[in-house]
Amino acid sequence: MNGRDLMTNKDLANVMYPNVTKTIEDYEKIYPERNLKEGAIVSRFAPSPTGFVHMGSLLTAFIESKMPKDTDGVFFLRIEDTDQKRSVENGIQGIIDDLRNFDITIDEGAISETEEKGSYGPYIQSKRIDIYNTFAKFLVENDYAYPCFCSSEDIEEIRERQEANKERIGYYGKHAKCRFLTNEERIEKINNGEPYVLRIKSTGDFNKKVTVNDCVRGKIDFPENDIDHVLIKSDGIPVYHFAHVVDDHLMRTTHVLRGEEWMPSTPLHIELFRKFGFKAPRYAHLGLVMKIDETGSRRKLSKRKDPEAAVSYYHEKGIPIEAVKLYLTTIANSNFESWYDANKDKTIDDFKLDFKKISASGTLFDIDKLLNISKNYISRLKATSVYESSLKWASEFDQELYDLLTKYKDYCINIFNIEREQKKPRKDYSCYSDIKKEIWYMFDELFEKEQSVYQNIEVKDYYNVEILNDYINNYYDENDTKDEWYNKIKSLAGKYGFAEEVKQYKENPEQYLGHVGDVCEFIRVATTSLTMTPDLYEILKLLGVERIRNRFSKFSGYIK
Ligand code: GLU
Ligand code: ZN
Repeated sequence: MNGRDLMTNKDLANVMYPNVTKTIEDYEKIYPERNLKEGAIVSRFAPSPTGFVHMGSLLTAFIESKMPKDTDGVFFLRIEDTDQKRSVENGIQGIIDDLRNFDITIDEGAISETEEKGSYGPYIQSKRIDIYNTFAKFLVENDYAYPCFCSSEDIEEIRERQEANKERIGYYGKHAKCRFLTNEERIEKINNGEPYVLRIKSTGDFNKKVTVNDCVRGKIDFPENDIDHVLIKSDGIPVYHFAHVVDDHLMRTTHVLRGEEWMPSTPLHIELFRKFGFKAPRYAHLGLVMKIDETGSRRKLSKRKDPEAAVSYYHEKGIPIEAVKLYLTTIANSNFESWYDANKDKTIDDFKLDFKKISASGTLFDIDKLLNISKNYISRLKATSVYESSLKWASEFDQELYDLLTKYKDYCINIFNIEREQKKPRKDYSCYSDIKKEIWYMFDELFEKEQSVYQNIEVKDYYNVEILNDYINNYYDENDTKDEWYNKIKSLAGKYGFAEEVKQYKENPEQYLGHVGDVCEFIRVATTSLTMTPDLYEILKLLGVERIRNRFSKFSGYIK
């Protein structure tokens, strides 16, 4: 550019990166192309170490992990800690734990704050500075990048001038003033200790188009990048754009799934891939995870406002991770739900995700729907499995329930088994924290604890102690079959002036106190204090004669 420049780009590169000993070719050998079968997807989850995963990033991580699983590819975890503001102490461990809690397993990447596995690392960006410097040096040597010494005032001045002249804002073309320094001038400034950033020397043309074939959105045309973006900050730490290109090339990523906020930067990334002579990966830009708020309008799911945005919420509530994953699959690919309905014996592993079926416009997150999926899921489990999972949950979150589950193991399994393992199982629990409020009355410890357990009961005028006593002394037999049991309640009903059939009652209501169903309700209320419970026959059988007797006498004391 300047005939009198006595220094070459190579000289400049050596002054800027005196400690670089390797070349890009060396790294190409260290991280060879992966030997995978045709169509295998290599994808990664690349969070900042903020210490936790929220629902939006969990959905991304889930899709990023599932695509490789579906194709015998590789899924890795890369920690993007180049932005110190977003790093927290033990932030890596928090992310690893959240992923593990959801059973999202990595093939490579960080496995603790200090350890990692896999041969394409380091997987923590702050440990890759030597690699970035090598790649930066290549750009400088080839006149694809240059040091910029502008202060924030200089940048502000450029912006003001552009605004005044109604020009497009940005550090580009003739506005990019450090482009026009000679290498001699640059070297002199560097030797004088002036701080600088590294900028790409863009050769893009804003009036030309670059087409990105997004896996989710299809072909999108962008203007080429012509901005001389910062690649490396004055502290030597790369920005996202540069680290993304270097890392995803060397780690041999085939598919970059990321938030749509990165979409406008894609032309810059493509320009960088081209300058290095690398093939760019495929991109899949995912929409935002939204929710309908109280006022009925759509907004971004917010980790500040919405407790369900934090993945710890699911753990604390005891929502099975399988249910969360079923929901994630449902919102990832809308055809999953009907597939799963039609293939009840299959699992998510049998379903292959399809990029084309991911919604480009974002996802509506609906916690009620998730809970409903969870309720169905739990209803299909075996009683022993409900027992094991609730025990595990309670061990962490509910000591009282834990003690009961431990003390009365078989009894609890029998309770969980009421109306389960049948074609249309009962759907009582959408999470393990629901369990206690659904079955508390089965335990004297909880029943007795309630001082006025019957206080909300409407005492009907036909509730009388004699019926209860007669029933337990002369009718109830725990060895009865369900039919025998019901027939006895019918006779009891007849004896005390209730119709034995509902139909009879309806024909001549004035002749009866009520019907057999009212007698059942009376017994149910007396034993459980509730008007609605699962199957009464099963409940009485589990409670056993002694408990029934005690409850009857407690209730008798109450209605007298
Ligand atoms: N660290 C970036 C983010 O959290 C990663 C984006 C990407 O996946 O490339 O947004
Ligand atoms: Zn400058």
